[in-house]
Amino acid sequence: MSQINNPFIAVGVGKDATAEEISAAWRTAAKRLHPDRHPNSNREELERLTTQMSILNASYQLLRDDLEGMRRTFYPENSVNAGAQRPGESAAQFRAAPVHPSPETACQACGSMNAINVGFVGQVGMLITRRVSNVEARLCKFCAQSIGRRYQSLTLVQGWWGLIAFLSNIFYILANALALNKVRRLPNPVAPLGFVTSPSDPGRAVMKRPLSWVAPILFAAVLAIGASTDPAPPQTFSVGGCVSMDQGSVTPVSCSTPHLGFITEATSSYQACPATTDNAVRTLGVTYCIDFDQ
Ligand SMILES: [Zn+2]
Repeated sequence: MSQINNPFIAVGVGKDATAEEISAAWRTAAKRLHPDRHPNSNREELERLTTQMSILNASYQLLRDDLEGMRRTFYPENSVNAGAQRPGESAAQFRAAPVHPSPETACQACGSMNAINVGFVGQVGMLITRRVSNVEARLCKFCAQSIGRRYQSLTLVQGWWGLIAFLSNIFYILANALALNKVRRLPNPVAPLGFVTSPSDPGRAVMKRPLSWVAPILFAAVLAIGASTDPAPPQTFSVGGCVSMDQGSVTPVSCSTPHLGFITEATSSYQACPATTDNAVRTLGVTYCIDFDQ
């Protein structure tokens, strides 16, 4: 047995715990690790749970078989008072032994190792105003994915609605995507030696959540409708068509817009135009005769 595998810590009890308290703590921890409680786990996660369960059960066995011996082994300095609640010590203090250590590097949510500092942004656009929430924490891969995916999915649905919200949302979604990508490359969380931890359920990937698609599909539909509406065809000179004077040059315009005159005839030269012609424009070898409206 390794010196580091302290069975009291593995079961999650203080050094002075009674046999009843140890049994209760073991049952709680075993329930938490049971595969039925983790129906969506992949094989790797199930193996991790199995390992944690075997550490837990072995530790419980040791405490049940030889509680006082374990106390002497792991807490030699306390062996004289073993099992005794000191006078004046409250039950709360008696139970205050930490379930797991919180070293600088552990996940703040579950106590696992392999954690990093990471941040996510959530935004809800409300036309004029917007609500932004941030989370910054030291998290293991699974806890970070659990939180980050929720933030990203929320932002993808609710972040766009408003002018300022729309613009800032692009940056928030990029920032979240970068953070999630960094998290994805983390090694899986592991419990510190002799400890049991329960990382959060990472949940489904962002784009496997139906809500994440609402806004992108809506935008795609708007773009498709915009593209299918024909733009006004460019105007060309033609008999019966209208013209306007734009910065000194005659240009063809739609007759439904303000115009200067209309084309009466297409001829080979200005001289061939009708006598009433006010002006003419020559393009591509054709002369268009123009009558001004007034
Ligand atoms: Zn965690």
